[in-house]
Amino acid sequence: MNFNFTSEKPRCFCGVFGIFDSPTASVETYYGLHALQHRGQEACGIVSQHINGNGKPIFIIHKGEGLVSEVFEDASILSNELKGNSAIGHNRYSTTGSSNSRKNIQPFIVNYRNGNLAIAHNGNLTNAKELRDELVNEGAIFQTTSDSEVILHLIARSRLENQIDQIREAISKIEGAFSLVILTDDKLIAARDQYGFKPLSIGKLKDSFLVASETCAFDLLLAEFVREVQPGEIIAIDKGTINHDDIKSFFIKENLPQSKHCIFEYIYFSRPDSFIYGHNVDKMRRRLGKALARNHPVYNEDDNKVIVISVPDSSNTTALGYRTELEKLGIDCRLEIGLIRSHYIGRTFIQPGQGNREIGVRIKFNTVKGVLEGRTVVVVDDSIVRGTTSKQLVKLIREANPKSIHLRISSPPIVNPCYYGMDFPSKEELFAHRYESNIEEMRKYLGVDSLHYLTIEEMLGAVSEAGEENFCHACFSGEYPTLVDPNFKKEIYEL
Ligand code: SF4
Repeated sequence: MNFNFTSEKPRCFCGVFGIFDSPTASVETYYGLHALQHRGQEACGIVSQHINGNGKPIFIIHKGEGLVSEVFEDASILSNELKGNSAIGHNRYSTTGSSNSRKNIQPFIVNYRNGNLAIAHNGNLTNAKELRDELVNEGAIFQTTSDSEVILHLIARSRLENQIDQIREAISKIEGAFSLVILTDDKLIAARDQYGFKPLSIGKLKDSFLVASETCAFDLLLAEFVREVQPGEIIAIDKGTINHDDIKSFFIKENLPQSKHCIFEYIYFSRPDSFIYGHNVDKMRRRLGKALARNHPVYNEDDNKVIVISVPDSSNTTALGYRTELEKLGIDCRLEIGLIRSHYIGRTFIQPGQGNREIGVRIKFNTVKGVLEGRTVVVVDDSIVRGTTSKQLVKLIREANPKSIHLRISSPPIVNPCYYGMDFPSKEELFAHRYESNIEEMRKYLGVDSLHYLTIEEMLGAVSEAGEENFCHACFSGEYPTLVDPNFKKEIYEL
């Protein structure tokens, strides 16, 4: 048995990318996926479309396990194999479907009566099991155990003639979270579920249009941001799309519900240089840090400055916000780099044995002892999932002999599973659930001098500019925006 120590943070979500009408479509998709690597590091794939010598559109796919740079290590894959003017790509962590099956690596492609179709999906369908059972009863044969394949079958089995109508009909049947990119023989289509759980944006690069989970993918390509795909919207880009106004737009239904964006994107998941849900992630993450300082400050215990450090890299921006607000409160403080993170651990596995859990943290982090010794230290982190890594990290910091350690978390305690794509462990394994959110007991377990989380109200107050009511916070509050099956398991489709 190997112990994979990199899995402590909430995992999952995926990254999707698509580009239409560019002579170097697969290269741009490669760079797009590279910028979205943080959204999924387990596997990736690209499908490109090109016209063969007989004038027929052909879909070519290359996919594999590993990082984008590993799967596409050989540059000739892009130049010689993945030819064509349009492409879509996908980075994944497993959600539904076995993470171990190569078949589950997206994009998925089919050839049906209307031609070729490729799909890449970010999110989690909550009614996929019922739909899949229904489709199987009607004779459908599934190639994968992924919920995303259900969408392909629904499109392919539609009796409607127009492809957009087929997609619209299929999408109206699926429930849960989805940001989709679909490539057909003559169109790039993107769609977002009616709650807008996951981000999805449209960009423009010279004469080509792009779609990506996060805008950081546009920046890498020097593409311009056009707009976000709206919750419940289906957009289509084809040869007739010259300007932004030419993008065809349809809605899943007329009366859309209140948006419910995944607030975890602001807390942890999206890159701070992205723009999602109408705001810069950097700004929102700083605000979460400021709210944390305002509501849960740490005061000087002596004449020395309070030392604020982040758990890199995901909490860097939050720690900046925390420090700024602490200063505003008149508390003498300084932001320091007290933890150094190794960026080269990749898929390192630690053999079991004495101290293997500790080596897991040590291989990833080390302390800058001179910064921490004898000081009042505030450690800012974005979330605690199981608690084991946080405990080891505190132990590591304690070895640097700080005067005291104060842990501040920029989200509320996670006590519920996510049915929309975030891969939390079972409820029983969630740290805060185990301790019934008893902060004092959790503090003792972690071995810190003080522990504070943002409350749900404080968190929503921090992002209120984007509309407090526009967020899903079910993993903290248990208020799920959709009906969910309490027996739902991510491995539900395992064959
Ligand atoms: S339950 Fe939590 S992680 Fe899942 S979509 Fe809602 S806010 Fe995001």
